[in-house]
Amino acid sequence: MFAGAAALAGCERPPEVTGGFAGASFTRGHVLRDLKSAPEPAVSRRADVVIAGAGIAGLAAARALRQRHVEDFVLLDLEDQPGGNARGSQVKGIGCPLGAHYLPVPSDDAPEVQQLLEELGLRKRVAGRWQYDERHLCHAPQERLFFQGSWQDGLLPLNGVGASTLAHYQRFACEVEAARKTGAFRIPQRSHVGLRAWDGETFAQWLDRQELTDPQLRWYLDYCCRDDFGAGLSTVAAWAGLHYFAARHGFHPPGADEGGEREQLLTWPEGNGWLVNALAAPLGDRFRGGQLVLRISERPNGVAVDVLDTQAQRVERWLAQRCIVALPAFVAARVVESPPAPLQALAARTRYAPWVVANLHLSGPLAEAPGMPACWDNVLYGAGSLGYVVATHQDLNPVPGPTVLTWYCAPGEAARPELLSAPWTQWRDRILEELSVPHPDLRARLTHVEVARHGHAMPIPVPGAISAWTAPPDSARMQYAHGDWAGYSIFEEAFTLGHRAGARS
Ligand SMILES: Cc1cc2nc3c(=O)[nH]c(=O)nc-3n(C[C@H](O)[C@H](O)[C@H](O)COP(=O)(O)OP(=O)(O)OC[C@H]3O[C@@H](n4cnc5c(N)ncnc54)[C@H](O)[C@@H]3O)c2cc1C
Repeated sequence: MFAGAAALAGCERPPEVTGGFAGASFTRGHVLRDLKSAPEPAVSRRADVVIAGAGIAGLAAARALRQRHVEDFVLLDLEDQPGGNARGSQVKGIGCPLGAHYLPVPSDDAPEVQQLLEELGLRKRVAGRWQYDERHLCHAPQERLFFQGSWQDGLLPLNGVGASTLAHYQRFACEVEAARKTGAFRIPQRSHVGLRAWDGETFAQWLDRQELTDPQLRWYLDYCCRDDFGAGLSTVAAWAGLHYFAARHGFHPPGADEGGEREQLLTWPEGNGWLVNALAAPLGDRFRGGQLVLRISERPNGVAVDVLDTQAQRVERWLAQRCIVALPAFVAARVVESPPAPLQALAARTRYAPWVVANLHLSGPLAEAPGMPACWDNVLYGAGSLGYVVATHQDLNPVPGPTVLTWYCAPGEAARPELLSAPWTQWRDRILEELSVPHPDLRARLTHVEVARHGHAMPIPVPGAISAWTAPPDSARMQYAHGDWAGYSIFEEAFTLGHRAGARS
């Protein structure tokens, strides 16, 4: 995976590049893995509601509680900052994402998300029509692909492709349209039943059956699957491969009439960290970071949540009327005492994709060859990574200055041990080797690299998972709200699940 890195060792690399790891703490998370039994608590506290996990689902649950005037709650997370996979950061004063970096403009299927955006002032009704604040919509040019030695507009390979490739693009568009018309593809998914027809085989097998074999189409669809689910088209179920297109605006081959509807995206320098900060701002000290949930036990008169305060290094017990478990399924199954069967089953069948997100600080913008200018999203055909987004893309400053590129990579499940053991410099060298092809001046501009590793970043929607889906085992005292219950990982699903758990009386 790091082949070729050795070739970079030596005098080519600018010695002044500093860096290290950033983001989620493996050490804290793995305390739970290595713990034989949870120590007895030294301190006892009370709240009406405890929310375990302050990712998007936990934050949405907190907002919903407040909307119902339930103010006596705490939101606990093992990390010092809220947000989970959607957290943002800063490198040398420039905001940048550590994970999720955009939110497509939601359809009417996602009223909870629409209401949030309205509340945050991003969506307004003007002259009877909904409008989004342009400062937060991704500015043009949005995306480009480095293909056949130059940058082209959009991510679908087009430069110099033949008639046969174009015919495959057209046929795939027809298949997407047919899938879309079934009404089974929604965001968020209201029911998984309609997707079962596409759950019995991988996307690659389904494409084979449709004789959609064109290498450019296959590369593009594999890229989309790796980008959405952290695993390629030979791993994910057919419904997942179709989902991004069929649940949104379809697939538009060249020449198709898009009706002016290129997907509108909301994005910020710090990615979805902007939304995290907006959701966390009203919580004050009800958000408690550095709190590792060790055990959640349902009792006849309430719920007991035992937590390791990582700073004080002591165990505390929260006694609550109810608990919203906004933790990943594999963690929830470990900490919930006598976990209900649907939780055990979800944890047992979920395969998680690891991710690496590296923020690269550059002293100034990269030189660009004539042609397609730098975009927000920049992808390299055939690369092992998913390319990079430019954190300063939304910046209106006419004089470009220092910037941060956020490089994304879903290295595959087998790479998880390497995530733990490889030094940050190995990632730096791999990134330099890859991105120096379109950007020979990258070495001269790079000053600092911060690498965030997500060991169990997102559930991979493998064949069979949706057919085995069962609803979260909610009771009067315990509700479950994490993106894992959706079977695939996007803001809208996590937010809606969290909102519904918090809104329950
Ligand atoms: C690299 C990457 C890029 C992504 N890009 C996008 C994107 O652009 N757009 C999009 O819509 N979605 C994207 N996603 C998916 C999106 O980030 C998730 O769907 C969403 O943030 C999940 O929220 P969640 O609350 O369900 O889970 P999580 O983010 O997993 O939150 C769970 C929380 O629980 C905490 N926790 C875990 N164990 C414990 C414990 N024992 N005690 C206390 N706390 C604990 C964690 O620290 C975390 O904060 C991306 C995901 C990744 C990994």
